[in-house]
Formats: sequence, structure tokens, C-alpha cells
Amino acid sequence: MSVKQSELTTYNEAVRIIVRQAGAARRECGKEALPLADLLHRFTAEPILAAFDLPRFDNSAVDGYGVLIEDLAKASESSPARLSLSGSIQAGDSADLAIRSGQTVKILTGAPVPPSVEAVVMREFTRESKDTVEFFTGAGPGENIRRRGEEFQKGDQVLPAGQRIDPPVLGLIASFGHAVFPVTEAPRIAIVSTGDELVQPGTTPLASGQIYDSNSHALRAAVLALGLPEPRIFHAGDCPEETEKAFESALGDSDLVISAGGVSVGDRDFVKATLEDKLGVRTIFWRVAIKPGKPVYFGCHETDGVKKLVFGLPGNPVSVLLTFHLFVKPALLTLQGGAKKARALTARLAKQVRKKPGRLDFVRGEMTSSQEGTLQAIPTHGQDSHMLSGLAAAECLLHCRQEASLLAEGDLIDIEILDWTNY
Ligand code: AMP
Ligand code: MG
Repeated sequence: MSVKQSELTTYNEAVRIIVRQAGAARRECGKEALPLADLLHRFTAEPILAAFDLPRFDNSAVDGYGVLIEDLAKASESSPARLSLSGSIQAGDSADLAIRSGQTVKILTGAPVPPSVEAVVMREFTRESKDTVEFFTGAGPGENIRRRGEEFQKGDQVLPAGQRIDPPVLGLIASFGHAVFPVTEAPRIAIVSTGDELVQPGTTPLASGQIYDSNSHALRAAVLALGLPEPRIFHAGDCPEETEKAFESALGDSDLVISAGGVSVGDRDFVKATLEDKLGVRTIFWRVAIKPGKPVYFGCHETDGVKKLVFGLPGNPVSVLLTFHLFVKPALLTLQGGAKKARALTARLAKQVRKKPGRLDFVRGEMTSSQEGTLQAIPTHGQDSHMLSGLAAAECLLHCRQEASLLAEGDLIDIEILDWTNY
């Protein structure tokens, strides 16, 4: 059976639809307050606000000596200025030590800088002996002093809600003293792999025609690589009964179901019909004008106002991971209150690509830089949808335009970074 191009949803439209549906499903998702130790990879449910000025007080950026500018006006390598050492301030001390002209105070990195100190001179430009310090350089006003509130003032928004918590974001939350912070609930995910030919790795010997199930393991890894909780995994042989049973179990207690295989137009592809006819899943789209991954299915299951998202991904090992990246990730991001940053990256195509017009080809590529510093993208070996090695070697996806039939070497082409640990 051939499918008319006009029956295919375009890639952009498919993503728009998914984000809209996931946005509607999200309204039912809750939030929870988690301790710092559990915040990594979650999404902020509220903006992070500055509870106080940051830095909280003027402090030193270096290990050095606090001075008055005028005292060092004539200091140089050959004729150092000599000041008397009046004391020292360490990180954690208070800043009540004042200096007068002719005096200096030792100040360590992060220690408060008293109001009387006009600059801090790095230890490297000084020599301390007994009660005096020699300065081999002058100083400018405010040098090496980190000012109170220079990064944030009390009440400022530090980061908005919907921010993915990576290490620096987590550091900011801790900087403002939060031991717990509200985040959106992580979606509960189930995976269904389908196929009579599949056996689990470790099983030997393989009968003729059997292959090892790689998709459920790769999909689980794709979920975990995003920092999401362990998905539940189900298997179904190629018959309506097993398909129904697996999806029924998968749909219970899940916010999002991802299946692999059985969603094309083969005699033994039962996913779409089972979802529609037996499980009350509403088909939102089926088949997208992309390569690989054309048979991808997206539907919604609603009962008692609870909306669940169902992705039927094609079974070929490259298609399943690419459609996870292209379609499931935006859903997972939206469900957690995040939004994708539009990032337009272009590169020069280092080798021509021939394709059939009508579908947007996501060619797997490596990135290099030309001698002039231009970003270049080159297709990896093994571009067929059953060749995982071509995806394993890929650092980026080359977006080869739907209508194009030939992209020549040297053409400018849109690319996206392929990062399994991020949305
Ligand atoms: P399907 O979409 O079910 O027609 O599967 C397309 C191709 O992907 C076939 O060659 C299947 O054998 C293969 N395939 C399907 N599921 C898996 C899986 N879980 N692991 C590895 N290969 C699979
Ligand atoms: Mg199959």
C-alpha cells in the first residue's frame, strides 16, 4: 500500500500537535518539593527568587591585601610601597577591621572586605615580612572586590519556572539557602516492545528468524539518560490479544506510553487498531513526512479527565530512537513544564546527500570544523534505518529539506546537536 504524501503530517506540525496535547495533559500533573539531593534533572515548578542580595556582602576575589588607593600611588617593581600589616580577615570572619592610611590588612578569598578598604592587591604582587607588606604595583578602585548584590538583588528572579535543574541551576538553588525546592512531577513512563521475532539478550541459541530485542533496552536507556524515573517494560507478540494486554497494563499507572514496532501497514502490525478499537485511544496522527520514522503514531487516552499520551514508534532500531528524540522528548519536556529553546545551527555539508523529495530526512552526522573555522557536517556510515552504528557514531542530525532531492557538498544546512542526555 502506498501512502500519498498529502496524507502525511509534516514534521513541524507533528511537533506542534504533540506540544499542544502534552500541554493539556500537563495541567493535571502535580508538583512536589524535593530535597537538594534529588533535584538533578527535574524542572522548577516555581521561579527561583533571590532571597537576599548575591553576593551577600562585599568580599575578596583573591588572596591578597586590602589597601587605600592613594597609599600605592607611587608603588612599582623597583620602588615598592611599604605598609604596616594591621591584621587578617579570613572567609567566615566578619568585616569590622578598619584601615587607615599607611596600613594594610590581609584578606583571603571570599572573606568580607571592610568598608574602609578601597582595593585588594593580589598576594603575587606583594612581599610580606613580619609586620609590613611591600607592594610592587598600584591598585585601581574596587579592584578584586566582589560587590554585594552585583549578581542579584533581593527579590530578583534568578531563573523562571520550567527550568531544567542541571548542576549550575542546582548550585543556585543551594546558594539561596533552599534545602528543598518545588519541582514538577516526573512523568511515569511505560515501554511496550512488539514482535514475534524478539528474544531477550542472553538467551541462546537463537532459532532461525529470531533476533535480540534491542529496542526496549535502548528506549529504557533513552528515558534514563534524561534523568527520568525507571520506566515499566512490557512485551507483546504479534497478535491482537497480546498487544491489547500489554498496552492495557502499560496504560495503567502511566502518563506516557512508548511502543516500538507493529505500527506500520504489515499484516501483523496490530498496534494502531488495538489502541483505537480495544483501548479507546484517540489517534491524533499516524505517519509523518520524515525519514526514517514515517510510520510513527501519536494518540491520546482520556478517562475521567486524565489524559495519557501514547507514542507508537516504528520498530527499526534507528527509527525508534530517532522518533523518540524527535517526538517523545518534546512531550516529556512539555509535561514537566519545560520549553525547547529555538536554536538555529547551520553547517556546511561536507559530502553531498541524495534523497527522494517528499520527506524531511534526518541524516545522522558527525561535526568537524574547517580550517577557516566553519562548522561542517558529514553523514556517518550506515544510514539505513536498521543500522544502529550510523546513529551510534552521530553527533548531530542534518535536516535535509522535505522538497529537496540533492544537497550538494558545501551547501548550508540546518543541523541539531544529538544529545541523549538533554531534550
Ligand atoms: P516493525 O515496525 O514491527 O515492522 O519492525 C521493523 C523492524 O524492526 C523489523 O526488522 C523488526 O524485526 C525490527 N524490530 C522491531 N522491534 C525490535 C526490537 N525490539 N529490537 C530490535 N529490532 C526490532
Ligand atoms: Mg514487528
